Amino acid sequence: MDSVINQLIELTKEPKIAYFSMEIGVHNDIPTYSGGLGVLAGDTIRSGADLKLPMIAVTLLSKKGYFRQELDELGRQTEQPYEWEPSQYMQLLPQKATVQIEGREVYIQAWQYNVKSLTSGSIPVFFLDTDLAANSPQDREITTYLYGGDLAYRLKQEIVLGLGGVRILHEIGFEIKKYHMNEGHAALLALELLNRLKRPIEDVWDEKLVWNKKGVKDLCVFTTHTPIEAGHDKFPYNLVLQVMGEIIPLPVLKELAGMDSLNMTMLALNLSRYINGVAKKHGEVSQNMFPGYEIYAITNGVHSYTWTCNSFKKLFDEYLPGWANEPEVFVRVGRIPDEMLWKAHMEAKQGLCDYIKQQTGDAFSPDILTIGFARRMTAYKRADLLFRDIERLKRIGAGKIQLVYAGKAHPKDEPGKQLIQNIFRYKKEFRDRIKIVYLENYNMDTALKIVSGVDVWLNTPLRPLEASGTSGMKAAHNGVVNFSVLDGWWIEGHIEGYTGWSIGAAPTEKGQSSDLADIKSADSRDAEDLYSKLEHIIMPLYYGDRDMWVRMMQNAIGKNAYYFNCHRMMRRYVTEAYIR
Ligand SMILES: *Cc1c(COP(=O)(O)O)cnc(C)c1O
Repeated sequence: MDSVINQLIELTKEPKIAYFSMEIGVHNDIPTYSGGLGVLAGDTIRSGADLKLPMIAVTLLSKKGYFRQELDELGRQTEQPYEWEPSQYMQLLPQKATVQIEGREVYIQAWQYNVKSLTSGSIPVFFLDTDLAANSPQDREITTYLYGGDLAYRLKQEIVLGLGGVRILHEIGFEIKKYHMNEGHAALLALELLNRLKRPIEDVWDEKLVWNKKGVKDLCVFTTHTPIEAGHDKFPYNLVLQVMGEIIPLPVLKELAGMDSLNMTMLALNLSRYINGVAKKHGEVSQNMFPGYEIYAITNGVHSYTWTCNSFKKLFDEYLPGWANEPEVFVRVGRIPDEMLWKAHMEAKQGLCDYIKQQTGDAFSPDILTIGFARRMTAYKRADLLFRDIERLKRIGAGKIQLVYAGKAHPKDEPGKQLIQNIFRYKKEFRDRIKIVYLENYNMDTALKIVSGVDVWLNTPLRPLEASGTSGMKAAHNGVVNFSVLDGWWIEGHIEGYTGWSIGAAPTEKGQSSDLADIKSADSRDAEDLYSKLEHIIMPLYYGDRDMWVRMMQNAIGKNAYYFNCHRMMRRYVTEAYIR
């Protein structure tokens, strides 16, 4: 224990940027992430460590993880708890903090995991845990399931993350110069700061003078991640009073977080100096959603070293030394001989075919154009758009394309679960004409296999709902070409026929409304464009012009990976959000 304490004393010497996120994917076998948000948080920390930024991170332990996905022969998903043992990876710290929940004192402890970089940088991630003997059985469960339970459970988790997180950092002895809220889940931290910065004024006649909003704002950065309504937590005030109590007077809270319910996004917006969306378009969309706030944009990136497969790592090490800690080096991708690039790609593709064989018994051929689609299964991502016209797809693709799918649906997302079953139905229907596989239990490991092992990365979100998207950036790092709806990051990364291809309308046109008729017409327009480009541009190029195809692979690396990496993103957070 002594060495842990000494390390901590060393760590607390320098003021830190504290990054708060409900989910962080630090490691494939630590299942404390559900999808893009958590993987981005992990990439943020990994790049921060590479760049030796003075950062620490706070998240929840999620002792039974998000879940392990099992699929039966019809594609029906069941969720198994994903038990893991924190002590295998992390060190339990002696410090504790408490929060009040439903009037009870709830104890919180923290596990420290160090994200270590090859550059010798290191960032500690503190995983908060309420599973202590001092807590009641129900409180011991607060940090058990990621995104599980009801609204009250979620509020309790956010109390532990926001209030508990600030308190335990204080207990450990950190001085924090910025708090970065990765999504609104952590916004209660701003209430804790409000209480800590309260001005002791005697004979107060104006309550507002007590609250140092400006002081809190100067400390806070808020990144919003989705334009989807359900992505913004709202808690009715009667629930808030019952679970959290009146930690600041209700009228003050309502002024900051909304009159009708405690809106975590409003709270974060009102108490952060710097606010951003995660792609340029998403910044604009957020600005329209929240008029009256100044909303900037920092486009997401991925951690280059994490998201490059082995055969490409070797290739980059040989021809582009230094690429991992300076992805700008990708600008010289043209130094890599075409045949070496193709060889590295075929190695990754063979690896994916082997994995598919081993997991499902299906024989995929490395010589057939392979299209990949893997991400959270939820309606707006339209995983089955490719199947809108089955006869046409059969006619275009029989014997000439293969499809790889993967992704989990949230346990309560019935339409998302339905999408998985639909793809299983198509798999049967297309049996010998078009090989389709749905890989179980999508996680960071399978993600790397799939994004690097296919030829084309497909993304079909309903505009403008894809705030950024990051899996396409991972694909680009492995020379895999994007074929995607012009939404999120792809608006910035797409040059038609050069870095990849678009699907459907240009982003300058208005995004679809939530009107069902509009959505249906978007579906049919987008599907039409998808089929037409697949048949007339992508397939002929793949089978008929290898040189041009390799040129596009180069552009994916030299134009897309060059820019859409987390090192560039973190440098921008530092210069635009953290040090001002
Ligand atoms: C990158 C990643 C995602 C995000 O995929 P999008 O297509 O950007 O939604 C989700 N899940 C896992 C496991 C990932 O690695």
